[in-house]
Amino acid sequence: MGAKLNEQGRGVIDVAIIGAGFGGLGLAIRLQQQGGCNYRIFERASEVGGVWRDNIYPGAACDVPSHLYSFSFAPNPRWGRLYSPQQEIHRYLRHCADKYDLRRHISFGWTLEAADYDEAQGLWSLSFDGGRQQQARMVVMAIGALNIPKYPDIPGLDEFRGKVMHTAEWDAAYSLRGKRVAVVGTGASAIQVIPAVQPEVESLTVFQRTPPWVLPKRDRPLQSREQRRFARWPWLQRLARSLQYLRMESVLPVFIWDSLFTRFGERLGRRYLRSMIRDTTLRRQLTPDYSMGCKRVLLSDDYYPALCRDNVEVIADGVAALEANAIVSRSGERREVDAVILATGFKVPAAGAPLPIKGLGGRQLAQDWADAAEAYKGVAISGYPNLLYIMGPNTGPGNTSVIFYIESQIRYISQYWQALQQTPSGSFDLRPEVHRAYNDKIQRMFKGTTWVSGCNSWYLTKDGRNTTLWPGFSWRYRMITRRFSLADYELLRASGAAAQSSPECGSTAIS
Ligand code: NAP
Repeated sequence: MGAKLNEQGRGVIDVAIIGAGFGGLGLAIRLQQQGGCNYRIFERASEVGGVWRDNIYPGAACDVPSHLYSFSFAPNPRWGRLYSPQQEIHRYLRHCADKYDLRRHISFGWTLEAADYDEAQGLWSLSFDGGRQQQARMVVMAIGALNIPKYPDIPGLDEFRGKVMHTAEWDAAYSLRGKRVAVVGTGASAIQVIPAVQPEVESLTVFQRTPPWVLPKRDRPLQSREQRRFARWPWLQRLARSLQYLRMESVLPVFIWDSLFTRFGERLGRRYLRSMIRDTTLRRQLTPDYSMGCKRVLLSDDYYPALCRDNVEVIADGVAALEANAIVSRSGERREVDAVILATGFKVPAAGAPLPIKGLGGRQLAQDWADAAEAYKGVAISGYPNLLYIMGPNTGPGNTSVIFYIESQIRYISQYWQALQQTPSGSFDLRPEVHRAYNDKIQRMFKGTTWVSGCNSWYLTKDGRNTTLWPGFSWRYRMITRRFSLADYELLRASGAAAQSSPECGSTAIS
């Protein structure tokens, strides 16, 4: 299927989607079903899946129930567990790519390096690695928020002669069997990798800086009987999904406003800790001293039991340095180790831009977002016409499935595209006053929440603004993204003729 040609005779596509994870695939499916869109997905890796392709560390799994952590339009009655492991979620995404015949619309091995808005043509010029170029009318950044591993600034990290592995860049060929291992960090990734590797290593030293609040996950395999029922009566699966949604939504008051509900949640957390950890010193080390919800609340059935095993030790004052064959805590505790697992999280875009993005009048997103990332409904940014985000600023869920948010954005973006399609040679630029009013309101909504109650977390910018999470019930976010309103945008007319919608549906033939 041919693309329209621009003035330079190069193909122009309607929509360039960057990233083939949940967001990119979900949007592609919607555009395909809608028809009339010449889109293409650009994916830096050689397979679909996003974080669920990359995070292959032992124990990697989701802490949101499987029926809820999947597309509402593509239910999977055969989930093997209540909470799916990474392999199963990745398999699900590959299945979606095949089922909806998306692979022929994906350019694998294309890494976006820069995006420039050409005002005369009303087009985005995208520069990929290897000098490859592509022009598109609309660009959707579906690159996810947790895709750049954060390596801690620990003195001696480069001098350590053993193996260093970040959970997000796991070397599956390296065996930990019989090794002396240190784990740095006690966040969502750490509490999964620790119980998974503990049985095979000689010793495991956990370097904790801040103890997390942990609640039981109550994971279990789903019986074949249940799977058969879900396959036979899809309404039953929809019901299970709705109940899971309601349950997760109903716990928000515990996590969001620093209140009596929070104190109640903390009591449950302490009771769970007491029931699992007999050793009073260890229990004291593992007791958080900040409000529940301020950092992500973790669900696990096997983390605390793993910490009680004979070959596990917790050192609770962080890491001071690495030496050639050892790791040293801030209080000077030194342990010789063969391998160090960095479960230290991601460079989260609370501020700054993921790559050079130039908008109207040459303005740079990196500068506009230097202090804090901001977008309208997490999707559109004033000064960057037809550039849209999936999982943009302030759209992270504090308590429920990210897929619920992604589907809300997909709906909004598909309506945006429909409106754009009816406006040949036009672009929509978010009105600055709409952008400002929305973001001021969002920041006001954070007042009194646990997220700004004083702990250190990746949710916050350096000056303490929360630019990552959605500050409320997820249904509220669904409501505000239900309708795309052209009144929020200014219509820009391109002087050249290139910015026209293609009447075709499908993708251009870029390999
Ligand atoms: P994280 O939550 O940012 O945790 C990083 C851990 O490393 C924290 O315990 C942190 O301590 C510690 N740390 C960082 N730098 C350190 C240093 N220099 N010295 C000592 N300790 C250091 O990262 P994550 O566990 O990878 O999780 C990130 C996000 O990924 C989660 O919040 C979640 O959204 C997502 N995730 C989800 C799942 C799931 O089940 N759905 C699973 C894994 C990850 P401090 O707390 O003191 O900063």
